[in-house]
Amino acid sequence: MAKSDLRPATLAIHAGYEADPSTGARAVPVYQTASFTYDTAQELADIFDNRAPGHIYTRISNPTTHALERRLAELEGGVGCIATSSGMAAITSVMMGLLKAGDQIIAARGIFGGTVSLFQNTLSRFGVSTVLVDAGDTQAFADAVRDSTRLIFVETIGNPRMDVPDIAGLADVARGAGIPLIVDSTVTSPVVFKPGEHGAAIVIHSTTKFINGHGTAIGGAIIDTGQYDWGKSPFDDVRQLAKRAGQFALLAHLRNLIYRDLGGCPAPWNSFLMLQGLQTLAPRMETHCANAATLATFLEAHADVAWVKYPGLASSAYRERVEAQFGGRGGSLLSFGMGTREAAFALIDAVKLAKNMTNLGDAKTLVIHPGSTIFHEFSEEERLALGVPDDMVRVSVGIEDYADIENDFGQAICSSKERV
Ligand code: PLP
Repeated sequence: MAKSDLRPATLAIHAGYEADPSTGARAVPVYQTASFTYDTAQELADIFDNRAPGHIYTRISNPTTHALERRLAELEGGVGCIATSSGMAAITSVMMGLLKAGDQIIAARGIFGGTVSLFQNTLSRFGVSTVLVDAGDTQAFADAVRDSTRLIFVETIGNPRMDVPDIAGLADVARGAGIPLIVDSTVTSPVVFKPGEHGAAIVIHSTTKFINGHGTAIGGAIIDTGQYDWGKSPFDDVRQLAKRAGQFALLAHLRNLIYRDLGGCPAPWNSFLMLQGLQTLAPRMETHCANAATLATFLEAHADVAWVKYPGLASSAYRERVEAQFGGRGGSLLSFGMGTREAAFALIDAVKLAKNMTNLGDAKTLVIHPGSTIFHEFSEEERLALGVPDDMVRVSVGIEDYADIENDFGQAICSSKERV
């Protein structure tokens, strides 16, 4: 795919689709079909053998989903994309596509609990081990590399610990070890940051979040940035495939085998919803980030708030990295402490505009108590190690009028204090 000169706000609206050639429909049509028909047996045989382009079956590819994939690939400046039924399906497909028993993952501590669970509870059953290191400590990643290490996995802003890894530094570590750096870029989106420009090999998105933006569908995406040479990789089957497929080796391996076999494809209607949401990603992202920065400052100054974590705060250890990596935008997620679990629960019960929900990146402001929900299966000790204290409230700051958001948290802190 040729790199585009267009900027993200434009690509989010136009990339990957012109108009339906048969009808002229300007919006991407929803090809709500399981399968496709061909005039001749030879035609279908050629598609099966990759001798001709075409869609076979929606579990493998679909025209609506293809438009989404092209748009996301262009937005990330990547060589291609595979859209999946969820963010977890994207991560699972990549892991199943690359790893085998005996391999090791180095992952950042304090990333999404579902990903930690996939690594520690599920992949461990197949003989894959995971070592967790502090996201901000690049040297710790280098020190953790072993002969068996096959990949490094981080999030652009660790959710919910809010650590910001040095992506270019980690790309150097990965390059030195001959392994790919995989970056879950869900919470920043290509409008704020493109990991491929900083050396990441693969970008993951839970498109459920900012890309959809309206909380209407679950989805995920895998983008190969073209930064990693699969022909020199330690993954035998992908390395072999690279002789024929070159930089498309991983995507071909996933599409023709792993993704096909695991069945984590999106419904065409969900791909349409992602495309619909994606069009407004750029202006939404700016408002999300601005509202979150102002709310973090308000909460930090509030006498009844024990602590605030937001990487864009002047007091954050990550402030400089946020400037350098994200152009000063600290994302829309913040977490803060109310002193006790009881006080955190009371706060969540007292907000009116913000809703108690397990999602993020929605246009609406959302709150959650991570310790009793996303991380409920971990012991208190494990939760603390993962950076999830019991008094933590996580906020995904929405794009409502900022004054209404601040008023809601102001009244909730006041009334919850009276209750505890
Ligand atoms: N990555 C991050 C950073 C997330 O926050 C989440 C979900 O919250 C996921 C991946 C998983 O995505 P999904 O819920 O779409 O499976």
